[in-house]
Amino acid sequence: MNTHHRITGRHRLMLLLGTLLTLGFLTTSLGSYFVSKREIHDAIVDRELPLTSDTVYSEIQKDLVRPVFISSMMASDTFLRDWVLHGEKDVTLITKYLKEVKSRYGAFSSFFVADGSSTYYHAGGVLKKVRPDEYRDIWYYRVRAMSEPYEINVDLDMANRDTMTIFVNYRVLDYQGRYLGATGVGLTVDAVRHLLSDYQKRYQRSVYFVTQTGKVVLFGSQPLPADDIHAVSGLGAIADRILANPAGSYQYRLDGRDHLLNVRYVPELKWYLFVEKVEDDALSSIRRALYLNLAVCVGVTLLILALTGVTLRRYQQRLEQMATTDKLTGLANRQTGELLLEHALADARRSQAPLAAVLIDIDNFKDINDSHGHLAGDRVLTRTAELVAANLRASDLACRWGGEEFLLLFRNCAGEQALLLADKLRSIVAVATIDVDGTAVHVTLSAGVAQYASPQTAEQLVGRADQALYAAKRGGRNRAILQASATESGD
Ligand code: GH3
Ligand code: MG
Ligand code: MG
Repeated sequence: MNTHHRITGRHRLMLLLGTLLTLGFLTTSLGSYFVSKREIHDAIVDRELPLTSDTVYSEIQKDLVRPVFISSMMASDTFLRDWVLHGEKDVTLITKYLKEVKSRYGAFSSFFVADGSSTYYHAGGVLKKVRPDEYRDIWYYRVRAMSEPYEINVDLDMANRDTMTIFVNYRVLDYQGRYLGATGVGLTVDAVRHLLSDYQKRYQRSVYFVTQTGKVVLFGSQPLPADDIHAVSGLGAIADRILANPAGSYQYRLDGRDHLLNVRYVPELKWYLFVEKVEDDALSSIRRALYLNLAVCVGVTLLILALTGVTLRRYQQRLEQMATTDKLTGLANRQTGELLLEHALADARRSQAPLAAVLIDIDNFKDINDSHGHLAGDRVLTRTAELVAANLRASDLACRWGGEEFLLLFRNCAGEQALLLADKLRSIVAVATIDVDGTAVHVTLSAGVAQYASPQTAEQLVGRADQALYAAKRGGRNRAILQASATESGD
């Protein structure tokens, strides 16, 4: 009937199936991806970063305890105090003392500044005189004025190479509590820096220190894109908020990647400890899993659609053929023939054009079955149908009407002309040799022709063709006979 509708129906079904599969796969794949993503995010923010921050902080505290202790011992050393109280007489004595402290405790430097003479002593002897108007000596006058027993000072601008050093500056008092000067040791921050590099390498976490103004002062092997957090894009926008309220979790975007950040204040250094991790790095494995998932889903969907398409098409073709054609001859079957007949009749009524029906029957077909077998009979039927069909025009219709009977419809064709055509078909078949497994078989046809005359029914038209066919059989077979017009014959 209308193939067109069934094709779109099939396509619609495939589209629906494809959509359902895609939606299903997308929901599960994306769903599990987002759940994992959330979990990873929470794990980083709630556990990984704070834990790293705690570890680094306690590591630094541990590193600072020793130098504070050493400096405190120096400050309460009776030799040192006596040597000052006795007028700083023998420089070799103090030099020897500082050298001893330095080498014994593995400090980067050890020093003593005597307040009375403003002399800066170190392990190498007298370094210089401190002066309140000297920028580099500001620290000394701050220690001199402070009320706490010591301070930890990070000197960023050391004359000694570029090594960043943490100084513990301890106030030295005499036996009556009067200020004598400042002593202590300096340590390089290489150990801390190693720790930071290690975190970077092992856990892809950036750990760095920031001053109260936002300057990045200490980082691992990999520096930040700028030496002030205000200048780092993404981070810069929240820098002031972080510095005003440092303890907590933050997030910013840099180069299209989400950075998760944990900040804490380190009061000993008056620095902020920043620990951050790029979320995308942590997500790369589950993202890879997602892509793999999606690729598999696309593959499975396409495979299912292809299989469904092929199966549907095959069934559809089979149904169509089963419904409309005769299996043996490939001609239209009886049902289709009847429909075609009704169509042709309606056409003829509307257009007033002549229409002729021809009923063809193979002569003595029973004999062929009897002498050559049923299969040979089938072969003859098929071959006869082929011969008939091959000699029809495109506008002519043919169907297998019964066992060895065929109905032909000639549109726009009067009875006499149809008779000529029927006789031509008869003679073609009559002279044809049909090969049945090497045996030559000859058959003849009888044909009855009738022209449609309104207001006949289809049944009546075929009945009249059948009457003519009967006449042809009675007349001796192998002939075509035209039924006289309905009015003439008196039907
Ligand atoms: P007539 O010349 O009077 O038509 O003689 P006939 O033998 O052809 O007539 P009849 O109607 O008596 O025999 C038709 C035979 O056709 C009977 C039936 O077994 C055979 N037949 C019908 N359909 C098929 C078929 O599909 N294949 C084969 N092999 N034989 C068929
Ligand atoms: Mg017959
Ligand atoms: Mg018959």
